[in-house]
Amino acid sequence: MTRPLRRILVTGGAGFLGSHLCERLLAEDCEVLCFDNLLTGKMDNVEPLLGHPRFSFEHYDVTNFLYVAGPLDAVLHFASPASPADFERLPIQILKVGSLGTHKALGLAKAKGARLLLASTSECYGDPEVNPQPETYWGRVNPIGIRGVYDEAKRFAEAMTMAYHRHHGVDVRIVRIFNTFGPRMQLHDGRAIPNFMTQAIRGEPITVFGDGGQTRSFCYVDDLIEGILRLLRSGYVGPMNIGNPREMTLLEMAKAIIQIADSPSEIVFRGLPPDDPKVRRPDISLARKVLDWEPKVPVEDGLRRTYEWFRDALDKEQVPR
Ligand code: UDP
Repeated sequence: MTRPLRRILVTGGAGFLGSHLCERLLAEDCEVLCFDNLLTGKMDNVEPLLGHPRFSFEHYDVTNFLYVAGPLDAVLHFASPASPADFERLPIQILKVGSLGTHKALGLAKAKGARLLLASTSECYGDPEVNPQPETYWGRVNPIGIRGVYDEAKRFAEAMTMAYHRHHGVDVRIVRIFNTFGPRMQLHDGRAIPNFMTQAIRGEPITVFGDGGQTRSFCYVDDLIEGILRLLRSGYVGPMNIGNPREMTLLEMAKAIIQIADSPSEIVFRGLPPDDPKVRRPDISLARKVLDWEPKVPVEDGLRRTYEWFRDALDKEQVPR
């Protein structure tokens, strides 16, 4: 349990969450190997880390055999597109990285005697009948729906992870990540916060899907990373929710972003995508008890930091490099 984890592979390390993890692990004196095929990850996210003596980047598709020379203490499997817009654009890649990618990551962990932490998701709960969702809830997922490619890939990934634990004795952790936001989200990945930020900054209409009464619970990225690293270093095997229990409607979120951006944008209503969950809120009793963790950053503060980052990133995007 107290074994130091020094040499760590982060799959999807150039993604939104992956790059924040790499940065934090380097700050904590780890050696970080980052693998990413840049399907949805961005070199910009890891550019500042490239010269670091304890950081290496490999442009690699982790659905293939994973080779790492030398010892390895942990594998953090974060590779996967994760935006609902990607569910329609990249369905096969999502299924492959959740299934084949998880298999390869587990195989590597087994060969190296490393701990594996799987990035799972609140999508395992689907469109839930219980709110908030505790880890003991089995979920309500449409396996053949548009979201099914992601939900079922992650459910399969959890099953595979527990099978490697039970059958091969691999030391595993599973984090069920709820909606997260912050700097380095993809500007145009179609998710609510990037859309609302971009629209508010440009003074374009804010597109709220459905009547905006559906809820989500948004966690600022720094809090999430702290929770994940505590889970990694804990002795807890089995899924654990990490997210912010503050639940809000999407209409409330749209209004909060308009206010923070001091934007003239108006709200317009668009069709609700199929199988869009009506409510989502983590029960974080387990994380509170086992990790002594809960989010610290109020959503409004996180939104302000995210707004500043989006404003700069959108500015840079307009200047051809
Ligand atoms: N949504 C919205 N407008 C947008 C994008 C998303 O109202 O421009 C809604 C979406 O239908 C969902 C919620 O915002 O109810 C959160 O969507 P997101 O894509 O961020 O992630 P999800 O939680 O659905 O995986």
